[in-house]
Amino acid sequence: MNGIAFFDLTRAHEEIREELGSAFASVMDGGYFIQGSALSQFEAQFAKYCGAEHAIGVGNGLDALTLILRGYGIGPGDEVIVPSQTFIATWLAVSACGATPVAADIDLQSFNLDPQKVAQRITDRTRAIIAVHLFGQPADMAALKALAEKHDLYLIEDAAQAHGAEEAGIRAGSLGDAAGFSFYPTKNLGALGDGGAITTNDAQLAKRIRRLRNYGSDVKYVHEEAGTNSRLDELQAAFLSVKLARLEEKVVRRNEIAARFQHGMQNLPGIAPPVIAPNRRSAWHLYVIRCNKRDAFQQELAALGVQTLIHYPIPPGRQAPYRQASDDTTATNADLAAAECLSLPLWPEMTDEDISSVIRAVQTVAINLAKP
Ligand SMILES: *Cc1c(COP(=O)(O)O)cnc(C)c1O
Repeated sequence: MNGIAFFDLTRAHEEIREELGSAFASVMDGGYFIQGSALSQFEAQFAKYCGAEHAIGVGNGLDALTLILRGYGIGPGDEVIVPSQTFIATWLAVSACGATPVAADIDLQSFNLDPQKVAQRITDRTRAIIAVHLFGQPADMAALKALAEKHDLYLIEDAAQAHGAEEAGIRAGSLGDAAGFSFYPTKNLGALGDGGAITTNDAQLAKRIRRLRNYGSDVKYVHEEAGTNSRLDELQAAFLSVKLARLEEKVVRRNEIAARFQHGMQNLPGIAPPVIAPNRRSAWHLYVIRCNKRDAFQQELAALGVQTLIHYPIPPGRQAPYRQASDDTTATNADLAAAECLSLPLWPEMTDEDISSVIRAVQTVAINLAKP
């Protein structure tokens, strides 16, 4: 059997090689590299795709989240509720603006925030909730919105893995008050380098973030506040426009592959395929199963040529920057997820034969490991 890589961008880029080349040439020949027309064009297109009024391009996904918090004036003394399991950037954004991340545990079926656990963590210092749409599945935004409204909190989406995801037909990027996206190369919409964006319907927030990303300045050399430098450059914006035109088709393909996986991986011993809650369209950034013998499972899949990864082996609250603050050592759902999760290869350019090979390998390993 041929090996199947966890991820392979070469096929995706081969399909659009000429368009990426023309995008590069047009920016180079235009001679304008920061905050020009390629950026404003991409921002308008991306806002439209997300069903939001405003999109603001920034340097990366971490900055997108940090700038939303700064834009709302969240800082020292404030608490922001974050999921116990996520990529650490969700937590780092809160730390970066001087506020305190407060973990609420995830639900083990969806890997997303459990709204009941969120309710228990709200104090009079809480200012916002960051809901991560982990692996591409929207969090329970209906329940979180009700909580946010009741307690007068901002509801922020970490949509770094969720370009094209939907809850009740509404796209990620317009499910909360503001959303942060990443265009890291392997994300569902990826640049040829770093990039990120914020989407929101809040005109005042959008204006402040535009200023913050550019040294706190609206008018050249007039600085209204101590901003930063976090901009999406013209080259990346031009590349992203080329890729955005194909995003929807790619998300549809991810859903087709996931449907085949779901069908082929039901009722196997020792593993649980992902569960998508009703009323959701996952963007299927990652296809993550739970295995009771995860490390053996990963090794045996590798022996059959299927490369897998673990997202994420150590929850943020167990990482060095946050360990001291978390006095509690009882196992959480985040710890269970970290011990059992295994991400299988799922990318839109996989062939039908690749998909069948992954399914066959998982079936073989599950049956082998179940033997006494
Ligand atoms: C990738 C990612 C980020 C950070 O994005 P960068 O562009 O790498 O800074 C934030 N949150 C989640 C959930 C991510 O997966």
